[in-house]
Amino acid sequence: MSYDPSNVFARILRGEIPCRKVFEDAHVLAFHDIQPQAPVHVLVVPRGAYASWDDFHEQASDAEQAALSRAIGAVARMTGVASTGYRVISNCGRDGHQEVPHLHVHVLGGRPMGRMVAKAE
Ligand code: AMP
Repeated sequence: MSYDPSNVFARILRGEIPCRKVFEDAHVLAFHDIQPQAPVHVLVVPRGAYASWDDFHEQASDAEQAALSRAIGAVARMTGVASTGYRVISNCGRDGHQEVPHLHVHVLGGRPMGRMVAKAE
């Protein structure tokens, strides 16, 4: 998947459109999803221009990769779901139903999260 710098998360990272920030560091920004699917629904986004996990794994530095992982844990603790449980989802590409072509991780919780994936139709 090639990277499109006009995607909405790239625009949020550049400060062109607002977000409800939860956490940030040198490599990561985390903010509330605009259409939450659970009481806690935070998106954790690397600052670098990566469309998907495969290019992130290939191109991102060890520091960027560690920061993304640590940010997920930080968000879980900051939002309170670390104690009650939560789900981490990352949709990639067409079959993964990725809508925004900038790598991101959903952290969802605050209620029982139900089935892991929808049944095949
Ligand atoms: P995905 O299908 O994994 O690409 O999910 C993209 C997510 O981005 C969806 O849950 C949207 O609700 C969310 N989203 C889209 N635009 C914004 C925005 N401006 N601020 C916060 N979340 C957004």
